[in-house]
Amino acid sequence: MTKIRVHTPLVELDGDEMTRIIWQLVKEKLILPFLDVRLEYYDLGLPHRDSTDDQVTFDAAAAIARHGVGVKCATITPSVAQVAEHKLKKAWPSPNGAIRSALDGTVFRKPIICPGIPTAVKSWVKPIAIGRHAYGDIYNNREYQVPGPGKAELVFTPAGGGEPVRITIHDFKGPGVIMGMHNTEKSIRSFAQACLGYALSERVDLWFATKDTISKIYHTFFKSIFAAEAAARAADFKAAGIAYRYLLIDDAVAQIVKHEGGILWALMNYDGDVQSDMVAAGFGSLGMMTSVLVSPDGKFEYEAAHGTVTRHYQDHLAGKTTSTNSVATIFAWSGALRKRGELDGTPAVSAFADRIEAAVLGTITAGTMTRDLARIIHGTMDPPRDSWVDTAAFIDAVAKRLSR
Ligand code: NAP
Ligand code: MG
Repeated sequence: MTKIRVHTPLVELDGDEMTRIIWQLVKEKLILPFLDVRLEYYDLGLPHRDSTDDQVTFDAAAAIARHGVGVKCATITPSVAQVAEHKLKKAWPSPNGAIRSALDGTVFRKPIICPGIPTAVKSWVKPIAIGRHAYGDIYNNREYQVPGPGKAELVFTPAGGGEPVRITIHDFKGPGVIMGMHNTEKSIRSFAQACLGYALSERVDLWFATKDTISKIYHTFFKSIFAAEAAARAADFKAAGIAYRYLLIDDAVAQIVKHEGGILWALMNYDGDVQSDMVAAGFGSLGMMTSVLVSPDGKFEYEAAHGTVTRHYQDHLAGKTTSTNSVATIFAWSGALRKRGELDGTPAVSAFADRIEAAVLGTITAGTMTRDLARIIHGTMDPPRDSWVDTAAFIDAVAKRLSR
């Protein structure tokens, strides 16, 4: 069999735990046998991040900026407890956060809908994509635990000189806690533009939600920038037959549950973090949610939305059978390859990406699936053993169908 040639190197970011095992299987069985591709490999597994003082993460981000497309495995963001457990030099920050900052990107998450797999939320028949603002707010905050009585203030000192602005946050009568957070007009604007662009390219309505009734300056700032950017694209939206809509976040949450889907829901950083897991769970499984980071200058990083599936990895280490869903990881590879084909002008590569995805969905529709999906079909946490296969067997079944 002649392999399909991929012209430009694809940047590969390896990761941790259960997803690292899946990563190797996917590469070995679904990618390398079919493609002649140069993978520029960066090992973002925790031991290698630690031994390189996290330099590997920055090198990987630079490689994505250079080549345009990367594919990333899930990685551990070490907690304080894990620093001791893994004997790390320090609690390395989230690689995703570092790569997002380096590429100044917006993260879009979209569930994979598979025929025959019912969604937990019955009204959802089309994908709900989430656009999560990936900069600022509590993710770049400063916090302080107030030890006792005293005054907390917000102080802004203008760079060009002039009187500092002081606003009292609270006069503490006893212990408490405070937090300072920020965002920038530039980042919010590029987020709004990215969401409008994604909605146009996918031809779906765009919703944006905040809590501007309560946060009359911070959230209203977001709302106004979105409104201005949406107005600037109004003609394009009209031509595409799609609409922009602003909602209060609590209203949006209630409405989304009754909606049929087929929209892009743009959210502030924290809301996007929380609601993307809600949407993934509502569609069935975290293992069926993909994620792509899009930078304003057109660089792309594809990954699964879920983490390293630690609980399954612990079972694996204990010698127990695992049935971890590899679909989102496989779709990260197919998404990256489709984009690579698009950018290189090599339709055969994009067509191969379509074929991988068809093989995955065909395998599931034909009845071979992992336990998380069998749980949904059988409506029980403990579905019959013959209704699901183990982690490796699922990938083998996809490989078999793909070679056919
Ligand atoms: P997680 O890895 O997403 O897993 C949470 C639970 O969701 C699992 O225990 C499992 O439930 C279910 N699940 C997730 N993915 C699944 C899959 N592919 N197939 C089947 N079930 C799946 O989240 P976590 O346990 O909170 O985080 C673990 C580690 O991942 C942490 O170190 C965190 O920092 C990291 N993380 C990384 C990323 C990233 O790199 N993008 C994102 C999130 C978290 P059951 O146990 O009930 O089967
Ligand atoms: Mg989350």
